[in-house]
Amino acid sequence: GGQQQAGQAKVLRAAGEATFAPFEFQDEKTNELTGFDVDLIKAIGKQMGYEVQYQNQSFDGLIPALDSGNIDIAISGMTITSERAQKVNFSKPYYKSGLTILVKKDDDSIKGFKDLAGKNIAVQIGTTGSMEAKKIPDAKVREFNSAAEAIMELKAGGVDAVVNDMPVNEYYLVQSGGQEAKSVGERLTSEDYGIATAKKNTELNEKINKALDELKQNGEYEKIYVKWFGV
Ligand code: GLN
Repeated sequence: GGQQQAGQAKVLRAAGEATFAPFEFQDEKTNELTGFDVDLIKAIGKQMGYEVQYQNQSFDGLIPALDSGNIDIAISGMTITSERAQKVNFSKPYYKSGLTILVKKDDDSIKGFKDLAGKNIAVQIGTTGSMEAKKIPDAKVREFNSAAEAIMELKAGGVDAVVNDMPVNEYYLVQSGGQEAKSVGERLTSEDYGIATAKKNTELNEKINKALDELKQNGEYEKIYVKWFGV
């Protein structure tokens, strides 16, 4: 991976589905892509002696883009799953996550996962949230291209609930002032995010792991974490 340009820093092409705040999203003022994942992969690249260019890519297109060599790295709040690990290499876990449920603020009928039976649920296509929602008896699951669109559908009254990653749901509730939606029930799953690279590029995966370890030791990871999550 990585293209070398004469007299310039080596470049790594990273991508993610960039409507997934606070992990990857567009800064409204600068129009740049920003977030925890963007800062982390740029710091990892720097540690390895690379410049990282981060681009937007649909979530279900990330693994194909690694396969075809269009990108070197996918970092997109992507959960390490055994199914995905057959297709890509994952770094060591870099963030602990899991799924929660969003419902409309005035909905008192859904208090947890078991109340979702028979309900209309919005999810992002190709995600762990989609997989979990499809296990719910008699639920009608509608898939959207992004978590942001799934949440919009909830606000518009088109669905009863959204199943999506907890830190993204929490960030949305804080940013929106919590007027339209609320989180209900316990966290459904425990998931680890990993940085994905092409199966054949084991060397890049090893370098990423080494850099991640170094950033954890030198306090840089902690700084980025505090910047986005505050604790
Ligand atoms: N963590 C979830 C998954 O890996 C959702 C990721 C995302 O929507 N960016 O499926």
